[in-house]
Parts: sequence; structure tokens; C-alpha cells
Amino acid sequence: CGVFGVYGPQDAAALVALGLHALQHRGQEAAGIVSFDGQDFPQHRALGQVGDIFGSETVMRNLTGDIAIGHVRYATTGERSLRNVQPLFAEFEFGGFALAHNGNLTNAMQLRRQLVRRGCLFQSTSDTETIIHLMATSRNGSVIDRLVDALRQVEGAYSLVCMAKDQVIGVRDPHGVRPLVLGRLGDTHVLASETVALDIIGADYVRDIEPGEMVVLDKNGVQSLRPFQQTGSKFCIFEYIYFARPDSFMEGHSVYGVRKKIGAQLAVESHIDADLVIPVPDSGVPAALGYAEKSGIPFDLGIIRNHYVGRTFIQPTDKIRRLGVKLKHNANRHFIEGKRIILVDDSIVRGTTSVKIVEMMRDAGAKEVHMRISSPPTSNPCFYGIDTPEKEKLLAHRMSVEEMRQYINADSLAFISLDGLYKSLNHAKRDGDMPQYCDACFTGEYPIELTDFEATRSDV
Ligand code: 5GP
Ligand code: SF4
Ligand code: MG
Repeated sequence: CGVFGVYGPQDAAALVALGLHALQHRGQEAAGIVSFDGQDFPQHRALGQVGDIFGSETVMRNLTGDIAIGHVRYATTGERSLRNVQPLFAEFEFGGFALAHNGNLTNAMQLRRQLVRRGCLFQSTSDTETIIHLMATSRNGSVIDRLVDALRQVEGAYSLVCMAKDQVIGVRDPHGVRPLVLGRLGDTHVLASETVALDIIGADYVRDIEPGEMVVLDKNGVQSLRPFQQTGSKFCIFEYIYFARPDSFMEGHSVYGVRKKIGAQLAVESHIDADLVIPVPDSGVPAALGYAEKSGIPFDLGIIRNHYVGRTFIQPTDKIRRLGVKLKHNANRHFIEGKRIILVDDSIVRGTTSVKIVEMMRDAGAKEVHMRISSPPTSNPCFYGIDTPEKEKLLAHRMSVEEMRQYINADSLAFISLDGLYKSLNHAKRDGDMPQYCDACFTGEYPIELTDFEATRSDV
């Protein structure tokens, strides 16, 4: 998901709509905005994409005020229905409160059961609503104290942007799994999942919110609080590989630059003689450029993507997902015929994309097809806010690399090594005792407890 919030400027909601548009890649399923106009909290939520929802003048006219937050949704838990669309909103003793969440809580079910026993009535099936009820049942008074009290009880990944009548609050969980940045626009401040959302409104990037940090934007400016115990940072390494937009800047790294470096490292680790390096668009492009540059093998766009089809992953059923892949890519035949090609993609999840693309390259007359992947094998699901399927559906969980190679029908298949990945992020290697990032989908080492998941396992 993507989150965005502003305190202070005129037409705050219009800035939020623009910010959400730049964060669209983080969630295409639904979007919402809540603002505060000095009296009321106008709000609008809908299923669909930002441009379709907030391109409407009638919708925007109602979202008045100079404080606003917004959310783009990509479901990890909870069904795809309007009642799960964020920002969530609730009326407390202190007044209205809106909350937008990127991440996924790992003990939300357990907390929910306790809260329901105490009489809380849940309106949605999303994990995020737990935070609202924990705030409601808190004995603390102020907005901040209630929020801190609630967050001390939750486990998992969260970057939050919240809003009350006189402030916008940003928080990152103690491990800082999901990103959140602070920007400045004139004398007002902005919070956003990624720097691309600052660029679109012409705001300056100030800094990343730190793991475990809470920032409060109000009429006095920006205040930084440290309400949680310090733990090691566990930023999601997959943000660099795939999820973030390449033109974003994270923790001092250009995402595009990191992807090119991973591609170069891949070329060093798994060199092979070939005629062309071809990216699987769009996500494979930066790594393929890095691979081509390092290996000296020419780069060509051998696959053209139709941009009017949503991301393959978002399609609800396996059948449609497979259809989606065919709708999305086409071979640039003339450049493929008779060539030995190296295909570069960012990841293999179910294997659907790779199977189709390799077949497409062979149909187009490729002499050899070598597949290179700019992440280690994805053999474990994510519980922290990326929508990977359950373990049994992950190709790398079911098969060895050689079995995967046969399955996708490639002449060779190689993945970046784990240390190679860390090297691309300027670390000599992965620190085995205290890994510098979350890399659980590759290693199975989950840095945050999986309370709900463990509970379902002990049931069976
Ligand atoms: P597969 O077809 O193997 O199931 O998925 C691999 C493809 O999905 C890759 O091309 C990769 O770019 C893309 N992908 C990987 N992770 C995600 C994700 O979390 N969301 C979306 N939308 N696509 C993903
Ligand atoms: Fe990111 Fe993978 Fe960790 Fe999920 S499990 S937070 S995708 S590195
Ligand atoms: Mg892709």
C-alpha cells in the first residue's frame, strides 16, 4: 500500500490526490482521502485507481481543508470490499481520527479476538482496524498517547499516516519494514511512502522517518518522538528489488541505482555467452541494463509490454492471472530470431510469467534462452505487507533451481546470491547474526514474530 499526508497547505486533498497518483504502483485496488475543514472530516473512498476516483471535480470539491491524508490499497489481509478501504475513520472523545496503514500486522487476529470479547464491534476485516479499537479502549487521554498505547501492543510491519483535527502523525514500526519519508512544501510538511510522491507536488525531500520514530506535524512544525524500544532496522529488501518505484530514493540509495548494481552483480556471478540482454518489462529493465553494461552484451527491448493491462499479480484467480500475462507482453520478433538471449526479471513467484515469456521467446525463434533473476529464490511468503501467495504456491519452495530451470524450459537459470544482493546495497556481505534488512521471503528468517500464523498452525 501507499500512504500520504499533508498538514497546512491550501487544497490539501488535491495534493494528496497527486501524491497517491505517484504511489499508484503500491496499490491499484482502491484509494481514499480524508481531510479536515475546520469543522468536519470530508472523506471519499472507492475501489479502483486514483485517477478514476479523484479525477472527478465533484469528489474533489467536497474534500476541503488544509489537513488531509490518503491511502492506496493493495490487499494483503482482508477481502476486497469497500468496507476495507482506507483511511479508516473513527470518532473518539477527542474528536475525529483517520488512519492510513502500509504494512501488515502479525498479531491482529489474536488482538481482535480479545477486543471482540471485550465488546468491540469490528466494521471491517482488515488488520488495521485493530489499532482503532486498541486506541478506543486505551486508558490514555491524548491522541498521541492512545496511539502509542495501541502500537505498543501490535506486532508486525506498519508505516502509518494518521490525522486528527489539529495534527498529522507519521509512524514507522520499530523495525522500519515499510518506508516513510518526510518532505517540505514551502512552510508546510508532507509525509509519503516514497520520494516520488514528493516530486510530483514539487516538495523537497527532508529525510526518511526512522524505524520506531513518530513524527507529529502541527502548527508548530515537526516534532519527533521515540515511543518504542530500539531494535535493529529491518527494512524490506524487496522494496529495492521490485516494489518501490525506480525513481524513488530510500535510505540514501537511488532505487534505480541499486537495481542496476544488482544486475551488474548478477552478470559477474552468472556470466554466459549470448547475443542480447532482454528485460522482462517493466520491472526487469534496470537490472537488465546493469547486466548488459557489466557484461558488454548489447541490450534490446525484445519484449514489449502493453501498458493498458494491470499488474499480473493483482488478478484474482490463477486462470485470469495466466491470461493476464499473455495480454501483457509480446515478443519483438524481428530482434529475437536466431539469437542467444539472456532474459532478466526481478523475481520468480509462481513461475507463471517466466513460463510464458520463455515460451514466447522460443516461438519467436530464439536459439537459446537464459534466465537471470535479480533476487534470490522466493521460497517463503511475506507476512509484512507484500502479497506473496502461500508457501505451497511458490515455485522456489517446491523445486530446486535445476527443477525450476526445467519447469520454465530455459537453457540456464540463475538467481543473484544473497551476499551479492547485500553487496549491491554497499554491504560487504549479509550479517548472519544481525541481518541488515528483512529478507525473510528469501531466507525464511522472519525478524518479527508471526503470532497469528503460528496460532493457525497449532490448530491443525
Ligand atoms: P510469477 O509470474 O512468477 O508468479 O511472478 C513473477 C512476476 O511478478 C515478476 O515479473 C515480478 O515482476 C512480478 N512480481 C513479483 N512480486 C510481485 C508483487 O508483489 N506484486 C506484483 N504486482 N507483481 C510482483
Ligand atoms: Fe520484504 Fe520479503 Fe521481508 Fe516481506 S518477507 S518484508 S517482501 S523482504
Ligand atoms: Mg515483472
